[in-house]
Amino acid sequence: MSTAQATVVPSFIAGEWISPQAEGGTQVLDANTGQPVATVSARALDVAGALDYGRTVGQRELSGLSLHQRALKLKELALYLNERREELYEISYRTGATKIDSMVDIDGGIGVLFTFSSKGRRELPNSNVILDGPTEPLSKDGSFIGTHIFTPMAGVTVQINAFNFPVWGMLEKFAPAFIAGVPTIVKPASPTGYLSEAVVRMMLDSGLLPDGSLQLLSGSARDLLDHMDYRDMVAFTGSAATANKLKAHRNVVDGGVKFTSETDSLNAAILGPDAVEGTEEFNAFVKAVVSEMTSKAGQKCTAIRRSIVPEQLVDAVIKAVGERIEARTVIGDPRVEGVTMGALASLDQLRDVRQAVQDMLDAGGELAYGSLDAPRVRTSGERTEIAQDGAFMAPVVLRWSDPANPILHSREAFGPVSSVVGYRSLDEAVELAAQGAGSLVATVCTNDPEAMRALTLGIAAHHGRVHILNRETARTSTGHGSPVPHLVHGGPGRAGGGEELGGIRSVMHHMQRTAVQGSPNMLTALTGVWHTGADRQIAGSAKYGAQPGNVHPFRKSLAELRIGDALASDLREVTLAEITAFANETGDTFYAHTNQKAAEANPFFPGIVAHGYLLVSWAAGLFVEPAPGPVLANYGLENLRFITPVGAGDSIRVTLTAKRITPRVTDEYGEVAWDAVLHNQNDEIVATYDVLTLVEKQNSIYAN
Ligand code: NDP
Repeated sequence: MSTAQATVVPSFIAGEWISPQAEGGTQVLDANTGQPVATVSARALDVAGALDYGRTVGQRELSGLSLHQRALKLKELALYLNERREELYEISYRTGATKIDSMVDIDGGIGVLFTFSSKGRRELPNSNVILDGPTEPLSKDGSFIGTHIFTPMAGVTVQINAFNFPVWGMLEKFAPAFIAGVPTIVKPASPTGYLSEAVVRMMLDSGLLPDGSLQLLSGSARDLLDHMDYRDMVAFTGSAATANKLKAHRNVVDGGVKFTSETDSLNAAILGPDAVEGTEEFNAFVKAVVSEMTSKAGQKCTAIRRSIVPEQLVDAVIKAVGERIEARTVIGDPRVEGVTMGALASLDQLRDVRQAVQDMLDAGGELAYGSLDAPRVRTSGERTEIAQDGAFMAPVVLRWSDPANPILHSREAFGPVSSVVGYRSLDEAVELAAQGAGSLVATVCTNDPEAMRALTLGIAAHHGRVHILNRETARTSTGHGSPVPHLVHGGPGRAGGGEELGGIRSVMHHMQRTAVQGSPNMLTALTGVWHTGADRQIAGSAKYGAQPGNVHPFRKSLAELRIGDALASDLREVTLAEITAFANETGDTFYAHTNQKAAEANPFFPGIVAHGYLLVSWAAGLFVEPAPGPVLANYGLENLRFITPVGAGDSIRVTLTAKRITPRVTDEYGEVAWDAVLHNQNDEIVATYDVLTLVEKQNSIYAN
């Protein structure tokens, strides 16, 4: 049986599904038909038990996996959910979502899992400690150093979610917390929580998730914060009013619960003065406004609520928006063929949105397009009838004679509603956008780089994201209203002041940054990354520290290689003939390598010097172990710095040390970063960099 047909939406707490009695609960209706879908129980849930289970079992089970193992699980989970999308679309229709709306929510959520899985494995180490920034020397002799590390928060992250994206809203918060190693408790919004429950059930049925890493509280759970403390975090999405109430809870104010929120915001789209009728920018702007009004029936935290356009273009924009809505929007039950816009999520929501529009009309707004009457909805074929039971609303465009009217910039109608206002100068456009008092996103639509720059820099501090739209991106843009996992989602002020997504940044939001100080050996042992000054097992030149019996580290597979395994070369002399030959061979005849007089006049060089790339190439010649072995490839250099110039008659030597070893969870090899340091004959540092290689986990070639 489909879970959404169950009478009471169950919870999953401490490893068990719990289905309380329906009595006294709130009935949730199909947004399109008004038929009962589920009941949300009013019975108190064991919030304290869920938190305790997360902090103990969840924390322990997640810490048994490395960052890469957890990231890989997200990919497996995404593949598992991908196979079951049809089942979820069916449930999603009941929330008023069309198939395309559902794809934004469901496929979009699955997409976030894929992206985080891949970024987690590419950008993070395969361990449980993340180093943040370079090492700071704290003593003259290098025996006392400092750095910063990230480790997972000690508690749980509690998601309190909005009704409009029951899947994406949950997965975009779950993915970074899971990679960080922090258990999640989901508290979905009651009107659409039955869809979140179906997804949580699938995720748990997959068998991929460690115990305690995901729990679900279906119900009002108003005592949630009473049981939380400084180890925990709340990630809230919903109304600013609820966010402000929760933020004022004593456990946030005094108890240190971390609180981040993404709340309602009156996002703007600004049309540049150049983007007159007939331009590609004008058309792209109109398309964006209509798409944001009708997708999810305008119930998007990122939707365009205010179009800020040149004064003389107000009428043209309203006309074009109306015509596009007319041509493209078919309202009705999304299960009916041809319907492009479904119902609002609930009758309560419909009432709220109509009231918001009425308030704006009473305060000076003018209905420029649409009406507040029940719309005609498609029932089948071309047949339509006046909406009866569902939460349907027609798109509405408002016009304002006073662009600074306060209600326009403060009242959110969370439905298919948008306002158009005129501006006379770019400064005024910036000022109007800023009157939203902090928004998630704004679109700047112009093909004039100067106008774009003035507008974007003018509004950036008031926004979490700016989407720059012109003819070059009209076809490829992911859209004004679509947060992407790679970039930050959130915004200042009214938008909640929080920050979600943004790639690995959001993983860090679930971790504690701690400064650590100690010796290079201790910090190496703590972080698993070799720090300059820590012990090494050196092979190669006895003159430069090699101990007898040490094997060249390139002969070692990952199974044998240890952090601190190193190779020290002997000195190699540099001659003018070689520098000249390299210049001629490569064509790099820059005067510092070819013209003694000109080189001497340069403040950085004593005379002709060796090319930096020649030094790096010689270094490779000095550290290489040429026979076939476990080192498969060199895939790059990082942080290359040339420090002391090398002239003819100088000598160089290299020391190469295994600094960071990252076995790949999906491959038979891993990555090894080698700390490379070139010295001259006076032991001065000539160059430093990291050499990046791929090395076999087991020594297959060498063993044969
Ligand atoms: P709410 O702020 O009322 O609810 C959001 C979430 O908070 C829901 O899960 C709700 O649970 C929960 N919640 C409410 N009160 C508490 C509490 N005291 N303790 C713990 N959890 C609580 O928003 P709505 O969903 O009612 O939407 C109202 C308005 O918010 C919309 O009209 C729109 O303006 C805005 N909104 C903004 C969104 C955004 O993405 N920024 C998204 C959705 C709405 P429950 O559902 O069980 O009450």
